[in-house]
Formats: sequence, C-alpha cells, structure tokens
Amino acid sequence: MVILKQTKDIQNFIAQQKAAGKRIGFIPTMGALHSGHISLVNKCVADNMLSVCSIFLNPTQFNDKKDLEKYPVSTEKDIELLLRAGCDVLFLPSAAEVYPGGSDLATTFDFGYLETVLEGATRPGHFKGVGQVVARLLDIVKPHTLYLGQKDYQQCMVIKELVHQLGNSSPVVTICPTTREADGLAMSSRNRRLTTPQRALAGIIYQCLVSIQAKQDNGNFDIVKKECEELLTAKGFVTEYVALANANDLTLLQQYTPDTPTVALIAARIGDIRLIDNILL
Ligand code: AMP
Repeated sequence: MVILKQTKDIQNFIAQQKAAGKRIGFIPTMGALHSGHISLVNKCVADNMLSVCSIFLNPTQFNDKKDLEKYPVSTEKDIELLLRAGCDVLFLPSAAEVYPGGSDLATTFDFGYLETVLEGATRPGHFKGVGQVVARLLDIVKPHTLYLGQKDYQQCMVIKELVHQLGNSSPVVTICPTTREADGLAMSSRNRRLTTPQRALAGIIYQCLVSIQAKQDNGNFDIVKKECEELLTAKGFVTEYVALANANDLTLLQQYTPDTPTVALIAARIGDIRLIDNILL
C-alpha cells in the first residue's frame, strides 16, 4: 500500500495510474477504522478498482468541538487493517493539504431541505462541512466510483446531491450495506467510547428498527414510535428522533405509507455518545 500525505503526490500518482488504464475507487473516512469501513474497501477491491482510502478527521463537519476532541484516532491500527484488506493507496493529509485556502463554510454547497432535517436539525452546519470535505477530496482524487456506507443514510443522500451538483466528471456513487455487530449494533468509530454497560445496551437501537420494520403491515407508527422511545428511555438513552421518511427524498412520513419507499431512522444518545442507525422498510 502506498501512503501519501501531500495533495500533489496523490494527484501525480493517480494521474499515472489512470494513464495505465486503472479505474479509481475512493473510500473517504475519518479513521478509527472497523469492519464497516473495511467492507467498503472490500467492495472496491472486488470491483477491480485501484482502491484509494483517505483518513482525514474533518474539523468542519463537527458542530460540537468536544465531539471532535473525543473522536478516536488509531492510525497505526488503521494502516494494518487497510494493508490486510488489500487497499492500494492511503491518503493521509493534514488540514493544510485539504484546505490550503482556508475552510470557511460560508462558501460551500446548499443542500436545501436535506441539510435541515433529522441530523441537520440537531447538527447545524454538519452537512455543509461534509459537502465541503467530500467535494475537496473528490477534486483531489478524481475517482470513477465513490464508496459510501448506508449506515449514514442522510449523508449518502447529501453526497449524491453534491455529486449531482458537481456535474459531469463526478463519480458513480455505490452505497454499501451497514455492517453490524452480532447484536445488531451498527459498527461505528464512536462505539469504542461506549463503556461495557453502555455497549451491552446499545443493540436496542437496531432492535427498535427491526420492530418498526416488522410492524409496517399492521402497525400504527404513532404507537410503534412511542414503544421505541419508551424502550430507549428505559435503557438510559436520550432519544433525538425515531422517524420514518421517504427513502428517495427524506420527506418525513407521519405514518407507514405502503406504496412509498421508506427508511426508518433513529438517533439516540447514551451518556455523551450519539449513535445513529437506519433500516429500509
Ligand atoms: P466515517 O469514518 O464515519 O466518516 O465513515 C466513512 C465511511 O464508512 C462512510 O461512508 C460511512 O457511511 C461508512 N461506514 C461507517 N460505518 C459503517 C458501517 N457500520 N457499515 C458500512 N459502512 C460504514
């Protein structure tokens, strides 16, 4: 695996690889890698792409600076995992490499409704930061295919919209299924911060999603939602949202809507750790 830290180095390397006929697959991450991230690398490798992974803890998408300070960092272990997965290139830039002209969010993209709802409602500026860093990384790496995880459903929608706004030379977006622990907990870098008792309870989020899915034919979502909220509260979570939305545009749905492609989404905090997950109905 080639490890590159400078923008000009990765740009040169990728230009050479493209000239040799390679297709470029790109997996942007913030590090603290786990099997969920590696599933994206595996998909990229299986698609016969030259696999390029980036690790960059992007400050501009953290509306809560304490969350940024506590974000786990494990670069040595990340490198080992990427090597084992057969990743070809790791881009490990500093903030100065990513944002040579500064990182003012005011001049970034507008995702309209998509950046105001659900995650956007509680994390102001978050998706502007995501759009900013992904646009910049796409401009550097210029991949043919971009690999994202369904775990961050709204982020996938925002990045698809970004790619649409970027136009012609933008990559194909491939969304990979959520990798889960044995009890259903969606793998997340933040899970490392859970205490043992918190970790033992955290599978409840996925159980709620599964019950929302199971009750879609005969259930009343008002009741199912209340059951989920009560269960989460009983286990010590603070629920931010338990929601149904149109899977194509994230319009919120108050009730199960059989002919509409639907995604159920949950965000809940335990202690100071915020977890999100979703399931397609
Ligand atoms: P992050 O490092 O959290 O920014 O995530 C980098 C990429 O990995 C994003 O596209 C995430 O959606 C994806 N990802 C994170 N967790 C998982 C998971 N459990 N399963 C699949 N993809 C994931």
